[in-house]
Amino acid sequence: MSSPPLRAGSRVILLPAGLQQLIDTLRRQDHQVIGPTVRDGAIVYAEVEELADLPAGWTDEQDAGSYHLRRREDDAYFGYSLAAQSWKRWLHPPRRRLWRAERAAADGDFTLVAEQPDPPRLAFLGVRACELRAIAIQNTVFTRGPFTDPLYKTIHDATFIIAVNCGYAGGTCFCSSMGTGPRVGAGFDLALTELLDAQRHAFLVEVGSPRGARVLQELPYTPAEPADLAAAEAIVARTAESMVRSLDTNGIKEFLYANADHPRWDDVAARCLACGNCTSVCPTCFCTTVEDTTDLSGRVAERWQRWDSCFTLDFSYIHGGSVRGTSRERYRQWLTHKLAAWIDQFDSSGCVGCGRCITWCPVGIDLTEEVRAMYANDSTGAQIATLNIV
Ligand code: SF4
Ligand code: SF4
Repeated sequence: MSSPPLRAGSRVILLPAGLQQLIDTLRRQDHQVIGPTVRDGAIVYAEVEELADLPAGWTDEQDAGSYHLRRREDDAYFGYSLAAQSWKRWLHPPRRRLWRAERAAADGDFTLVAEQPDPPRLAFLGVRACELRAIAIQNTVFTRGPFTDPLYKTIHDATFIIAVNCGYAGGTCFCSSMGTGPRVGAGFDLALTELLDAQRHAFLVEVGSPRGARVLQELPYTPAEPADLAAAEAIVARTAESMVRSLDTNGIKEFLYANADHPRWDDVAARCLACGNCTSVCPTCFCTTVEDTTDLSGRVAERWQRWDSCFTLDFSYIHGGSVRGTSRERYRQWLTHKLAAWIDQFDSSGCVGCGRCITWCPVGIDLTEEVRAMYANDSTGAQIATLNIV
């Protein structure tokens, strides 16, 4: 008897060999499969071709300003929390040429050469719940306003997304308190939960889209039993319970707007190096700058877009000076934008609780700690009574 057609919401069981076939199928469909792999002592997202490329048996230990890999006692493929950099590396590339102009003779006119980007078709393997939310947030930024970024939209719309429910919370994760994880929500084609114990190594696979169903239909799956669903639920629940950090966002917009002169900004400024690591690793930060270049012959001019950071002096430079000249002003701008102004701009927080900015800050500045410290010493008294300090 043939199995019923799969549709969004269908859940089945796939063995590791089936996961390899999923990678093979996507590669045959001309997707470049990007997934977790170990490189230079960290888990990073890079091209993967086979299961052997995944970080089987590795996990990460993360804390403020600290990251280490450690061997697990099992061979889980997804037994870590998050890779060092986020998926925005592919959806919103760090550097891209916007246009190029050439002239045939040194004294001739320039001719604009139109950019015809041909981005690869991507498939992301191992997208976590907070990262799915971050992708949705960047999608709003780049495609839902009055102007759409066509390159972003082209890459995003063609990307096949395989999410993975978290079976392990990193030391800097706080997605539970942000309502963004550890269970994946919307925005995936397929979502896996890794089921690994003494008896078996398998994946519960949930279908999230018609194209996810079409790909999965060709793979050697078996029906999921109620015990499989219960096991998957228990894994995510345990992960949520084990999270050690949290951020109370109740009334935070009004609180931060009312505390622009809080003495804690001076405290954090004394530690902040204004290096911009936090904005580079953040999956929602999207700011860019443009740079114009010419070659030595003077016949070629190009304009490039590259990631920028609100922590650089140049970022707020306006004819004659920078609006935010100090680390105090720049950290305040970053945190207040993330947690307050973002809500006015995009109707959501700009933070998904991934914790990367905490782990990769060289001096271990932790935004959950900064907000808690400000709550504890509210300079206005405006919101403190409504806040549930955790
Ligand atoms: S908060 Fe940390 S990562 Fe961000 S700019 Fe300051 S020192 Fe760098
Ligand atoms: S602000 Fe920090 S914790 Fe929040 S999404 Fe960005 S990197 Fe993750």
